[in-house]
Amino acid sequence: MTRAASPPPQVLMEKKLFIKTYGCQMNAYDSARMADLMAPFGYAAAESPEGADLVILNTCHIREKAAEKTFSELGTIRRLKRARERQGGRMIVAVAGCVAQAEGAEILERAPYVDLVFGPQTYHRLPEMVARALLAAGEQVLDTSFPAEPKFDYLPETSAAPGISAFLTVQEGCDRFCTFCVVPYTRGAEYSRPAAEIIAEARRLAASGAREITLLGQNVNAYHGTSPGGGEWGLGELIGALAGIPGIARLRYTTSHPKDVDDRLIAAHRDVPALMPFLHLPVQSGSDRVLRAMNRRHTADQYSRTVERLRRARPDLALSSDFIVGFPGESDADFDATLALSRDIGFAQAFSFKYSPRPGTPAASAANQVPEPVKAERLAVLQALLHDGQRLFNEASVGCVLPVLFEKPGRHEGQLVGRSPYLQSVHAEAGVERIGEIVPVTIRAALPNSLAGAIVAQSPAVAEHRA
Ligand code: SAM
Ligand code: SF4
Repeated sequence: MTRAASPPPQVLMEKKLFIKTYGCQMNAYDSARMADLMAPFGYAAAESPEGADLVILNTCHIREKAAEKTFSELGTIRRLKRARERQGGRMIVAVAGCVAQAEGAEILERAPYVDLVFGPQTYHRLPEMVARALLAAGEQVLDTSFPAEPKFDYLPETSAAPGISAFLTVQEGCDRFCTFCVVPYTRGAEYSRPAAEIIAEARRLAASGAREITLLGQNVNAYHGTSPGGGEWGLGELIGALAGIPGIARLRYTTSHPKDVDDRLIAAHRDVPALMPFLHLPVQSGSDRVLRAMNRRHTADQYSRTVERLRRARPDLALSSDFIVGFPGESDADFDATLALSRDIGFAQAFSFKYSPRPGTPAASAANQVPEPVKAERLAVLQALLHDGQRLFNEASVGCVLPVLFEKPGRHEGQLVGRSPYLQSVHAEAGVERIGEIVPVTIRAALPNSLAGAIVAQSPAVAEHRA
């Protein structure tokens, strides 16, 4: 495997790196890897962009006004860059992520003080790009290519402590081309990392203290990587292998496409206790007509049947989802079908968005766009229903004992915060020595965004079990 070149010793003086991350967990993972790439060159993470040597905006293009938000943020960064120069310093400004991929040279033109623009598939070249910008003052570097070689081969091993709950990208890009979505254009074609590479990274995370790993991918259950034996594994087999790593108590994965839930993945939900009983499975709409126009390739009924099969495999499974309201051509009847599906399934949690035309995607040029006020009204109705569902789900936890994986100190002295199997944030009184343990907690109250509980008296750490 090829590795990034070692830094020359003379550049090893402490420098400040500030990364602002927008959007999904995959961007958070990428930002962490960019920090890993720059660490050997003396760049240490900074809390703010003031006085930084390198500022990276890791952008997201999935919804509304992403580009405008980036340019407005760049305005602020420009002032800081000028201030740095007045003090005789230098600040390299980089725009990364999906806005960079989509807007490319436009960013360099509109914001000439930006030094680097690169997409999600080329950030492994970051040290080289920074070196070029530093050597040739004023040279702007643009790299939004889709290299044939996967960037993962060039990334260094993670250096920073991952925390109790870590992310691990197993799959990237997407070949599904839903008509509303920019991902296939900004992240490129679907790519699955070889299983052996993922297992090695998971072992390193476990050795550095991670107890929970969330497997990431734009369409994570499309995973089809080379198995250690040279065959092919789906996500189900990969999860089975990762569950055997000592120290890893919990596994999750996100984000999935309903059409890519296969038998092996359902079997993993049945057979792998470490796979948490909480699944984010975006449905987008409950109307077959809209689903067809979105190119989702499944019906509302097929979605419900997939959920039934998952629930048969893992009866305590709770579901989360994504919805888009006001997709072009969505009628009142279509929207009612979405409300009906949400009621039928009973989501424990959900994200819902107004449709936002993304330049270059097929739906953006559809003639039958839904007016903004209609979108806003539908969103409010759907969100009220989904919030009710979430409240009921959380209230049903009161009185139950849930195994909580403590992650960090809470806001109040003597308190820890952790997660239930259903990803609910739970706080309870506990000493810091219990961080990293899975502890039975009696839930006493359901608050708007979290649960409050008390550790079951005299309880030792528990092995994860079905709640
Ligand atoms: N791969 C996932 C799937 O198949 O559902 C979704 C990944 S996407 C990064 C996250 C969510 O953003 C989507 O599920 C969708 O609800 C929302 N989204 C994507 N494009 C959108 C658009 N143009 N307008 C509004 N919401 C959008
Ligand atoms: Fe986008 Fe998900 Fe559809 Fe792929 S499957 S195009 S990531 S919404």
